[in-house]
Order: sequence, then structure tokens, then C-alpha cells
Amino acid sequence: MSKRINDVEAEIARVEAELAALEEEEEEEEEEGDGDGDGGELVLRSLENERIAPLAASQLPAPRRKIRREFEPGTLERARALVERAPSSEKIKVPFACRLCAFRGESLEEFEKHRKSQLHRAASKLYKEASFCALCRVQCTSPVELERHVSSKKHTERASREGVAKPEPGV
Ligand SMILES: [Zn+2]
Ligand SMILES: [Zn+2]
Repeated sequence: MSKRINDVEAEIARVEAELAALEEEEEEEEEEGDGDGDGGELVLRSLENERIAPLAASQLPAPRRKIRREFEPGTLERARALVERAPSSEKIKVPFACRLCAFRGESLEEFEKHRKSQLHRAASKLYKEASFCALCRVQCTSPVELERHVSSKKHTERASREGVAKPEPGV
């Protein structure tokens, strides 16, 4: 289940990289020959998957444990460091680059290889988790976006309604 979320993330990153690449070299818009014929379909399916039912707050620790088993030792730690350092600006788009991992590829092929790597997959999962409000079950686009959400009226009202606004010391 959480694998699909990762695919969505990776797919978005891939499409963004492709779009950025196309913007920069409009004349040579042919990017064929690498035998990857399922791109278009994947995008549609990914969008569909994005509407999966959100987890209950009480279920949240579960996927975290699940990904720990999914990745090789050390990968999550490296990914976490990357996510913490990741720039918050989403406006700068470099072709074949992964902002999250500070990876810069020379071709779509290299970028594809990167996005399938354990490190990238772990980093995107953590990034997604770091952008998720468990209380409202809202998936924000970035941790910065989540901060904005957390200070929003909608969130603070819900928080005080559900009594999680101020953690009780000593409990
Ligand atoms: Zn990456
Ligand atoms: Zn919230």
C-alpha cells in the first residue's frame, strides 16, 4: 500500500523532470528509444492511487515500521538526512535532477535509475511522511507546506477540539 504512494511521488518527480527538460530544449522534444513505454499509463494510475483512503491517526506508526523492513540497513538513515536537508523551494527545476536527494543526472535514463534506487524510494517516503498531518489526515506537498497547515485555523481548531493542542507535561 505505501509502495503505491511512493510510486506516485516518484512518478510526479519523473514527470516534473521530463517537463522541465522539455521546457528547456523545446526543439528536440523527442525523448524516445529507451523502451519505457508505460509512462503515460503509470501517470494515470498513479493519480488514481493518490485518492486512497487516509490512515487513521492510530494506524500511523504501522507504515513507518513497514518501510523499515523494506529497505536495506542504513538506507533510511541516509534518506532521513537527505530529507532534512532538502530545499523547500519547488520552483527551481533542473532537468533530470532530484531535489530531494540532491541528485543530478545527465539523462532521463540516469534519472530513472536514480528514482528506482533504494535511497530515493526511502527519501520520498520519509518526505511524504514528514508532510503528512496525522490529525487532519491531510497530505501536504512538503514539510514547509505542513507547517503552514499546522498553523492554519482549520488545523488548530481541530487540534483544540480533539484536545491535542497542548501536550500535557508529565503524563
Ligand atoms: Zn531522489
Ligand atoms: Zn492538520
